[in-house]
Amino acid sequence: MPNDSSNSLGNASLVAFNSLALPGRAKLYVRITSVNQLDAIIGKHARRFVLGGGSNLVLTENFDGLILHMAIPGRALVSEDAEAWYVRAGAGENWHDFVQWTLAQGWPGLENLSLIPGTVGAAPIQNVGAYGLEVGNCFHALSAVDMLTGRQECFDCATCRFGYRDSVFKQEGWHLTGRFVITNVTFRLPKQWRPLAHYGDIAGELAAQEIGNPDARQIADAVIAVRQRKLPDPARLPNAGSFFQNPVVDAQTANRLLARHPDLTHYPQADGRRVKLAAAWLIEQAGWKGRDLGPVGMYEKQALVLVNRGGATGGDVIALMHAVQHDVFEKFGVELMPEPVFLKND
Ligand code: NAP
Repeated sequence: MPNDSSNSLGNASLVAFNSLALPGRAKLYVRITSVNQLDAIIGKHARRFVLGGGSNLVLTENFDGLILHMAIPGRALVSEDAEAWYVRAGAGENWHDFVQWTLAQGWPGLENLSLIPGTVGAAPIQNVGAYGLEVGNCFHALSAVDMLTGRQECFDCATCRFGYRDSVFKQEGWHLTGRFVITNVTFRLPKQWRPLAHYGDIAGELAAQEIGNPDARQIADAVIAVRQRKLPDPARLPNAGSFFQNPVVDAQTANRLLARHPDLTHYPQADGRRVKLAAAWLIEQAGWKGRDLGPVGMYEKQALVLVNRGGATGGDVIALMHAVQHDVFEKFGVELMPEPVFLKND
């Protein structure tokens, strides 16, 4: 672990900082607890990577650059008007803890995003979402330091260009090059709250508890119960959450697949032209649910989750990823794309 007085370390092990528990080292590691620390780094390191909770990361090799481990704390109500509360959190805050804190303060709106792993600063990058709610729906603005110019920039909803698990940070590849370091995020939580409990798993959980008109806390508890049942705890079985994105295909492709596989789980998109397919269904049908390849496997309770059963390397993860992609493509002609970021030197 780094020395607290300097917050930095050379040839640092990253095994404790990625939820897949993959081995790998960084040439230099700095723990960032304040915006001022970034001043000394601007323009100095060609190869940088901003690490949050490490819950969406695959280490493939030792990293020959600088890891900026985001740990800026803080959470506060920054303003309030007749319509909404505006709540800000430091980029290093744990996402789930932050969501639970907003609920405890009486500011509902983020409850569907309970138990999503990672940090507040990472959430807008892939516009994390669950059970019909995305970060972009409750987003107001974020602050980020441009590591090329040293300037502090503000991104609003429009400049973030949110899409399905997507934002300008991914579209421009900035999350791979460490171009912007997000330092805090402000959320707009409308006072006129309405529950979002239509997803099957959540509706089922609430019905089982005979809750007809759930409040935000009850929805959060239902989300937590469902996720704890379906997803492995990384502390016990290392994993990076959903390993593959749910593919979105054109309606013609979906119709062709549905003619052959009528039980294929699918969701027509609002544009009427595209259909989202459940990647977990495709993986299970390709025979990978609960199946291992070496020390890694696809989790028995949720086929979308790749787990490290002990001692795996990034190479093992890549081998399994390719095997699953190959078999799904052979069977359905659909290409599965990985969701995590791969930390590489090029
Ligand atoms: P799930 O609830 O079994 O759903 C599988 C797929 O079906 C997802 O693509 C989901 O869409 C879609 N779906 C289910 N019910 C739907 C409905 N009523 N209307 C429209 N689409 C519906 O998925 P899961 O794997 O257990 O994950 C639970 C939730 O966590 C999902 O919303 C999933 O997207 C989310 N999640 C997010 C991340 C992330 O942000 N990185 C990672 C893992 C899981 P959506 O994907 O649009 O919800």
